[in-house]
Amino acid sequence: MCTRDRAYSPQEIQDLATSLGIQLTDSQQETASIFTSPQPLEEGQVPPAYRAENYQLDSDQPSGEGTRRRSQEGEDGRRRNLTFPPAPEPLPYAIVDNHTHMDLLDGQVEVSARDALDTGQAAGIGAIVQVGCDLPSSLYAVRAAHLDDRVLAAVALHPNEAPKLAEAGQLQEALEVIDQLAADPRVRALGETGLDYFRTGPEGMEAQEESFRAHIRLAKKHGKALQIHDRDAHSDVVRILQEEDAPETVIFHCYSGGPELARICNEQGWYMSFAGTVTFKNSREIQESLSLARPELILAETDAPFLTPHPFRGRPNASYMTNYTVRFMAQYLGQDLESLCRQIRANSLAAYGSWGIEGF
Ligand SMILES: [Zn+2]
Ligand SMILES: [Zn+2]
Repeated sequence: MCTRDRAYSPQEIQDLATSLGIQLTDSQQETASIFTSPQPLEEGQVPPAYRAENYQLDSDQPSGEGTRRRSQEGEDGRRRNLTFPPAPEPLPYAIVDNHTHMDLLDGQVEVSARDALDTGQAAGIGAIVQVGCDLPSSLYAVRAAHLDDRVLAAVALHPNEAPKLAEAGQLQEALEVIDQLAADPRVRALGETGLDYFRTGPEGMEAQEESFRAHIRLAKKHGKALQIHDRDAHSDVVRILQEEDAPETVIFHCYSGGPELARICNEQGWYMSFAGTVTFKNSREIQESLSLARPELILAETDAPFLTPHPFRGRPNASYMTNYTVRFMAQYLGQDLESLCRQIRANSLAAYGSWGIEGF
């Protein structure tokens, strides 16, 4: 399949989606704000764009494509608090949330990409990487990266999607679309891809591995980073990366390994991206890895709307919450917050290249 050497326009993404039978959210809705002027954040208060009273709540309203996580019940079966957490004090130096899903909806309100990015920026999250998990969300990511300069895109078929696509006989076809999208200059990573032995059983492993290997090859073909999703599969992920001769830039998104994996990452020069999980009390192994990680390999992310940092675990997540995770990291490392933020921004730029905006 021929690949393009120029950027997709938002309209071309729309057309590609239509030709694939995929419906994307309205791009005008994504770039609109519910406010007439930018709203300041008040520390300790839910950010204005995330407050239910600023929306006309209509539960029948379609919420766009993508997987929803609006369930009232948490993984423990208990009722969840669907209110977004309060705004933190802004960071002293703006950083990147290098793994987020603005298209996955959670909480009581449907926040536009513009309002999500404005809120993040006010909290010290100046840029993001919007990550794809399937064709609709990968198309969304590429379009988002062309609608707002604060966004770069990652495109991929998630390891839990690959078995479903393989079963339907659509894996190869879907990989060809990912290949096409990966050529776009605002796409800077293939991801999230990897292995997930937690959600996918043995019957899906073959398809996961096939898809993971294909993504590694695409990252090298296009000279882009590789964002790894690794759940309960550390040794197989490392083995396959080495068998395939890993791309130059590899990022373990939502790093979940222990000291052993951290040592391998240090040796190989692979980035460790820390999410809200690093703040959890039972995450000793992840915390130990953080203290072992070479400073130039540390990144930060939300994986929003999942993995909300302590003490807001279980509530909806959004990019502005990277702030809390980075505060925890600085405290844990006994490092000055601003110097950690400077390191994380520099690392993000080294991993993904420039966003093309001031400072990023
Ligand atoms: Zn993931
Ligand atoms: Zn993710």
